[in-house]
Amino acid sequence: MNRLGKVLQVAVVAPIDHLFDYLPPLQPLINNEPVRGLRLWLPFGKRECLGILWNIANNTECPEDKLKPALEWIDSKPLWSKEDLELLAWTAQYYVYPLGEVLATALPTKLRRKTAITQIATAKQGWIESCTTIPQVLKSGNLLNIGPKLNADQDNAITTIKAAFGKYQAFLLEGITGSGKTEVYLRLLEHILAQHAQALILVPEIGLTPQMQQRLLERFNTKIALLHSNRSENTRAADWQAARTGVASIVLGTRTAIFTPLPRLALIIVDEEHDPSFKQHEGLLYSARDIAVWRAWQRHCPVVLGSATPSLETVQNAILNRYSKLELPKRAGAASSPKMDLIDISATKLQAGLSPALIRLLKDNLEAKQQSLLFLNRRGYAPLLRCYNCGWTAECEHCDARLTTHQKLDILWCHHCGTQQATPKQCPKCQNTKLKFLGQGTERLEQTLTKLFKDISLVRIDRDTTSKKNVLEQLLKESQAGIHPIILGTQMLAKGHHFPAVTLVGILDLDQGLYGSDYRATERMAQLLMQVAGRAGRVTKPGRVVIQTYHPEHILLQTLIHKGYRAFAQLALKERHEARLPPFTAQVLLRADGTKLETAMSFLTDAANLGKELPTHSKIEFWGPAPAIMAKLAKRYRAQLLIQAENRNLIRKFLVDYVPKLRQLTPSSKVRWTLDVDPQEIS
Ligand code: ADP
Ligand code: ZN
Ligand code: ZN
Repeated sequence: MNRLGKVLQVAVVAPIDHLFDYLPPLQPLINNEPVRGLRLWLPFGKRECLGILWNIANNTECPEDKLKPALEWIDSKPLWSKEDLELLAWTAQYYVYPLGEVLATALPTKLRRKTAITQIATAKQGWIESCTTIPQVLKSGNLLNIGPKLNADQDNAITTIKAAFGKYQAFLLEGITGSGKTEVYLRLLEHILAQHAQALILVPEIGLTPQMQQRLLERFNTKIALLHSNRSENTRAADWQAARTGVASIVLGTRTAIFTPLPRLALIIVDEEHDPSFKQHEGLLYSARDIAVWRAWQRHCPVVLGSATPSLETVQNAILNRYSKLELPKRAGAASSPKMDLIDISATKLQAGLSPALIRLLKDNLEAKQQSLLFLNRRGYAPLLRCYNCGWTAECEHCDARLTTHQKLDILWCHHCGTQQATPKQCPKCQNTKLKFLGQGTERLEQTLTKLFKDISLVRIDRDTTSKKNVLEQLLKESQAGIHPIILGTQMLAKGHHFPAVTLVGILDLDQGLYGSDYRATERMAQLLMQVAGRAGRVTKPGRVVIQTYHPEHILLQTLIHKGYRAFAQLALKERHEARLPPFTAQVLLRADGTKLETAMSFLTDAANLGKELPTHSKIEFWGPAPAIMAKLAKRYRAQLLIQAENRNLIRKFLVDYVPKLRQLTPSSKVRWTLDVDPQEIS
């Protein structure tokens, strides 16, 4: 021990990847010994910040005059169990991210500050009362209704998953939209409540929490911990605390909820497991779905990955029997599956993006007093503004991208960096006043439909019409009630929402998914298409789905339409196998950006050379570096180096050697870099 006593090794919440040494705070812990996981308030450079005690050492290499005492202990006991800390340490290691930052990500915002856990008011949020009712949940009539009679497939799924309670097993619950997956979850949760255990349910988006919450509240008379970023800091912290202390039995949230401490965790459900939103796109680039599987393994409990369109990774894991596949092939209840057709538009004159055939179908459906849904995955009025005289097009000055016209706002908007400017009335190059709007966005489609079908109530659902609080919920409610004969919108419509009265779905443009630059583009296209198609005919009326395309012969599209998602997945997996792409290989993407493309590229060239010098490199492939597809984004130039190997283990071994060296390579300060482990977007 040094002259000063014990030294605390602290994970500081800062983007630095090592522990920092501190002396204990002058005010000792009351009634407790310092242990791993305790929060501390620290002096750090010129500011103060949060840190988490990780180790206690007898020595330090830090010079005595630099060693400072921590300011104070925030709590008297750690907020995490040993297993929670292990999970977070694994996450930091796997995703190559500073431990302190990972720990902070796992905390509700309120607890990232100097707020003691004892200041979190669960009583005010009604957790005290619910705590007293939970243990007798089923006996005291807290099961509000018993639900529909299960069909044989549901029954089989539930029995199989229940048999796995108490041990690790991963399940793929593959069932088309409306096949009764949620009903399966509800029955499993019934079991969780009866056992006085805890379950974690993850949904991909905040927008999907209300309907899941409603299904839960209709079934169970219990309070649900809701964890997503659209809640006030106080309620979120209170729900987190209720989960952490085991008071909440059911925890529902978006991806960060995967880190919630859950002492009695017995089941994890990841609904719509294929959804890219489970992967975080900034900061800690983790996949909540993948962590869910690891966590279930760690905690010896089953994890259920539910989807109508499982990701190719998950399909492959099921083929390899790492996951057990359970199928719900039929729609539950009386609903029948929709019929799908392609409309070849390669030789058709479109009216604002609509083919005559689709307009006819819309008319018929309106006359039959049925509801229709149109899907166009592009918001705004028109994606291209061009001068007919000189060929000038409106482009973003900060990005390699075109500006989208938004007519009502009368602006040009870059959907990549957010830059906005007034729509010019004449060409800035040749002063010609005849500017042409090309292409279709939802705003323009709405306008066209209003002209085509006078006096028909339309509702448009996209990011522009739903930016105000609660508007989305309101519009969805109206749409679901069947008030509007035509609903149109972007992919906001595609995700998991029920539109029971819709009998016709028109998909205007999915072709960019067929020839996208990212190898995942076709998978995403197929998932989106099936999700949108799944909106039709959900109750009793049969549905019809029509897809406009310039490429009706495309083999993946043909397979998808005529043979279904599973056949598509098989074919797509075969292509991935032949191209040696994930899930048949593992990847890490090193991204760099700078004020010049050359600086980003030269950093990555150095990084590739560095990798090739390491003894572990022989099984590693380096692809690139290459500029990103959109090389310029928000005034920064971006490039990337793809690192690939046969499997994740090889990559992980390599990263252990590589990352410390890479950190030393720190380029000229103007280049920033990130490592993306298991990247979901390579473009
Ligand atoms: P998914 O989650 O796969 O989309 P849901 O569980 O939401 O499917 O079921 C779709 C609809 O069918 C819901 O209205 C649900 O109440 C109903 N449902 C589910 N299972 C059955 C069943 N066995 N019998 C009758 N209706 C059912
Ligand atoms: Zn011009
Ligand atoms: Zn831009």
